[in-house]
Amino acid sequence: IRWTEGRGWHDAQLQPYAPLSIDPANATLHYAQTIFEGLKAYKQADGSVASFRPDANARRFQRSARRLAMPELPVETFVEACDLLVKQDRDWVPSEGEQSLYLRPFLFATEVGLGVRPANEYLFIVIASPAGAYFPRGVKPVSVWLSEEYVRAAPGGMGEAKTGGNYAASLVAQKEAAAQGCDQVVWLDALERRYIEEMGGMNLYFVYGSGADARIVTPELTGTLLPGITRDSLLRIAEDLGHKTAEARISTEDWRRGNEDGTLTEVFACGTAAVITPVGHVKSARGEWAVGDGEPGEVTMKLRETLLALQTGHAPDPHGWMHRLG
Ligand code: PMP
Repeated sequence: IRWTEGRGWHDAQLQPYAPLSIDPANATLHYAQTIFEGLKAYKQADGSVASFRPDANARRFQRSARRLAMPELPVETFVEACDLLVKQDRDWVPSEGEQSLYLRPFLFATEVGLGVRPANEYLFIVIASPAGAYFPRGVKPVSVWLSEEYVRAAPGGMGEAKTGGNYAASLVAQKEAAAQGCDQVVWLDALERRYIEEMGGMNLYFVYGSGADARIVTPELTGTLLPGITRDSLLRIAEDLGHKTAEARISTEDWRRGNEDGTLTEVFACGTAAVITPVGHVKSARGEWAVGDGEPGEVTMKLRETLLALQTGHAPDPHGWMHRLG
């Protein structure tokens, strides 16, 4: 779907996947005016296909557009475009367990010119790809590197938006994490490099205590981390399961002390790609420590199973999150 100043959205088309031809002076290549989303469609237990909360992705896409001075695609148009592609690719939606069809909607400037200002032409595209289970050989805790040198987003910046620049800024820290032998980066706040923000492409959760009495805490939305749709869903699922939940500031000292004195029992990350990933080990320039016994925690796995059962139609959908496509 194209957008042109003075004309709005027009020319919706369903086309076979093919390369785009880009002018060397295309504004996006130079000034990164681009936003995207990631969501999944799952084969349901009854054989139908349903996507998970596409309206929530559509609203986040609008918020990202506002931050990047781009036009806002109506929620219905975003959802309709995703639906059309899922219906077209119905035979590509895998039916095994956690497998899904991953959808990648994105919007970028198509205007040609080197002036630094909001472009007056954009193109919205959705592409899709079957996605396998994130942990085909069983869920394994990841190790994380606390990035103190690099920050992902600063107050007033683009941290809340899903825009390519945030990911470009993250790559050097991911390289650093890998050089430290860690799987993922954990970002800290820009001002004090003390408070936990989020992981590479996932939000974080901290579990205090065990069983049904466990309390579940996630870093509050400060404006510098991405408001994950999985994060939001898990706050409600945890409450449905009877857990107390909170959004709060959590410092690196709180994390370390909690693991050392045993009050912080489990830590996990969550996002569309992996749903839930346990965190098993933390490393920083100031030392390292283990989270629990290195095995996926009981509360983490219960939340994971509950959300996946809902997404694949094996459990009721009390919040009306599944968008059925027949
Ligand atoms: N943080 C970042 C930086 C991400 O890229 C993602 C993935 N979209 C998330 C968190 C998790 O968001 P969601 O649950 O909506 O996938």
